[in-house]
Amino acid sequence: MYSGTAKDIRKGLTADCSKCFGLCCTALNILASNDFPINKPAGTPCMNLQSNYSCQIHSKLREEGFKGCTVFDCLGAGQMVSQVTFKGQSWREHPEIREKMFQLFPIMEQIHEMIAYTAEALSYDIPADLSAELQEKLEELQNLTELDAEDLLSLDLVVYRFTLNELLTAASDCIRKKVMGGLPRSKNITEYDYARADWMGRKATGKDLRAVDFRGALLIAADLRNTDLRAVNFIGADLRDADFSGADLSTSMFLTQMQMNSAKGDSTTKMPYYIQRPRHWIN
Ligand code: SF4
Repeated sequence: MYSGTAKDIRKGLTADCSKCFGLCCTALNILASNDFPINKPAGTPCMNLQSNYSCQIHSKLREEGFKGCTVFDCLGAGQMVSQVTFKGQSWREHPEIREKMFQLFPIMEQIHEMIAYTAEALSYDIPADLSAELQEKLEELQNLTELDAEDLLSLDLVVYRFTLNELLTAASDCIRKKVMGGLPRSKNITEYDYARADWMGRKATGKDLRAVDFRGALLIAADLRNTDLRAVNFIGADLRDADFSGADLSTSMFLTQMQMNSAKGDSTTKMPYYIQRPRHWIN
């Protein structure tokens, strides 16, 4: 799963539901909403989960009101817990592992997300010392995925997140500054700082937003059609229903498949190498 270049590692972090025991459909606590029509407590299989761990309404999730299921993405954490941590034993056949398996799924999901960000940062043209620190972090995180269940459950992931965030911000600032240098706009980095900004419903159609920092920003239902979003940092931004039709995200940084699945776009949206165009954008 982790072989190849940083780019390969980032691209390889995709869910393979055929190797997972329906963990996202069982482990998580889901409250009824516009995205999921029923309350589903953690540890209880969804009523649509079949005995072979596939979904019986997979082809019509949105029509049936289960939009949230087409948005969720575990970055391959499901198959890692199922096949590596628990060595192919399922919670149905081995009820004794059930509770631990369900507790571990969101932990592995967070580790995979950190691996994804780290590998992505390593795929950029960044200074050697920063690259060395990120490489060390990547190996550390990859090693965590091999731990046994007990050790995984005792991890304090906040510590890992804290140190990683500093490295990711440094990598993003380095790329953004390089791009800013070639822009006709101000070169003052603070003027590109929209971290945690509230852009809910903001109309920004056609704007040149290159090199902006949208870390943790609220972009819910923002109109970002035909915008230029190259070298933008989107880490942790809320992109639900933001419209990226015709936008250029080709070199946007630290997006996740789940963020993009929750947004809108079309066949002309330019995507980063590590994101697949959501099926519902074109169907
Ligand atoms: S509707 Fe299907 S994909 Fe969604 S939680 Fe239930 S079984 Fe899983």
